[in-house]
Amino acid sequence: MANLTAEVISIGDEMTSGARLDTNGQWLSRRLGELGINVEYHTTVGDSLSNNVDVFRTAANRVDIVITTGGLGPTRDDLTREVLGMLSSQPLELRPEILSQIEAMFTRRGRVMAQRNEVQAMFPATSLVIANPHGTAPGIDIAIPRDGGGSCRVMALPGVPAEMKQMFEETVAPRLMELAGGANHIRHHVMKFFGTGESDMELRLGEMIARDRVPRVGITVSEATLSLRITAMADSEAKCLEQIEPTRVEILEKVGDLFFGEGEGYEQYNAIDDSLRERKESLVIVELGYAAPLGDWFASLGDTPAFRGAVSLASIDQLLQFTSCETLPLALSTLRTQAAASWVLLVDRYPALPKGEDALLPPTEFRVDVVAPNNEMISIEHKIAGHPDILHARVAKMAMAFLRQQFAATPY
Ligand code: ATP
Ligand code: MG
Repeated sequence: MANLTAEVISIGDEMTSGARLDTNGQWLSRRLGELGINVEYHTTVGDSLSNNVDVFRTAANRVDIVITTGGLGPTRDDLTREVLGMLSSQPLELRPEILSQIEAMFTRRGRVMAQRNEVQAMFPATSLVIANPHGTAPGIDIAIPRDGGGSCRVMALPGVPAEMKQMFEETVAPRLMELAGGANHIRHHVMKFFGTGESDMELRLGEMIARDRVPRVGITVSEATLSLRITAMADSEAKCLEQIEPTRVEILEKVGDLFFGEGEGYEQYNAIDDSLRERKESLVIVELGYAAPLGDWFASLGDTPAFRGAVSLASIDQLLQFTSCETLPLALSTLRTQAAASWVLLVDRYPALPKGEDALLPPTEFRVDVVAPNNEMISIEHKIAGHPDILHARVAKMAMAFLRQQFAATPY
């Protein structure tokens, strides 16, 4: 496969002014990297025509592929279309079939298309359309001539992250693979882990995360949850899957102790829900202190027989009052009975977070109690420190990890 280079251009005053963070640029770079395309530049530019022309021209002269986001909307500050027309020296032409698609999109939403939106059906003559199934602005795919001869492929996507991502996966990625020659199928498989940091994970995986490995394995971390993404590229779907399976097994051999599930959005609360359903058991949660993320997360599961509710209170004292019990074990078993749950998970407690920008929390302690179906109470104490932004999430996730350990140790 040819080694293609790329530049990502993020367009919009909201980024250059600092009102919004360019998350599209990060997402696109990661995906391009997975396709084996080397992103050499990130450029962010505001909504000015001359600046956009400059930036696009510079990019076209120094890389093979340019992916842009933003500026495809119908308003006057949306300039990407015009810039592409100028740089390709092509007039913008109306594509009637795209116009009717946009009109149909408005009709489906019970609205009438404004005259202004017509511009979204205008394309430079030789460009290809990048379909946008969930928005009104299709993307533009066009070759732009370089100063010294040759051309650069530019693919312009809208700024709305959900639309941009879908269009990249469905249309841009396959076209890029074709451009790179060789593989034309791509398949991702995401595995989820909790219980260590990124650098330890890297150490344990060793050569598996080498950039030139086939298939490629990448690590990302979100609020202490680690994701390993296996990216396979081959000339058929079946061959991609053939690449993924042995890598999956190898990963489980190395770090299976921290593994809790598979799939992009899969979290520990999904794993707990799945285990409980399998066990035909259920859970009630008590969260004490200055946060209650578990209640939110489990509620987001929707209707599930596994979740019997969550209570958020200030302290053990308040819990005793609330349940009219004298001791914690009594209070928890009362709650378990009242909620008709098999298990109780208690977090005691989420610390108050320091206020102010760079404030750090000194190490604090918290305890997790689990009451098992046989009414036995198992506890663990943790000391935790770190950045306040994700501290509460880490406490909650450590509590879930402890609960999962108890599941593993308790036959059903
Ligand atoms: P639209 O048809 O919605 O106008 P557009 O291509 O003109 O599409 P923008 O108007 O630039 O896109 O942005 C639409 C939305 O997407 C805004 O809420 C904006 O904040 C968000 N957005 C734009 N660019 C980015 C980016 N690089 N990272 C994250 N969010 C972005
Ligand atoms: Mg816009």
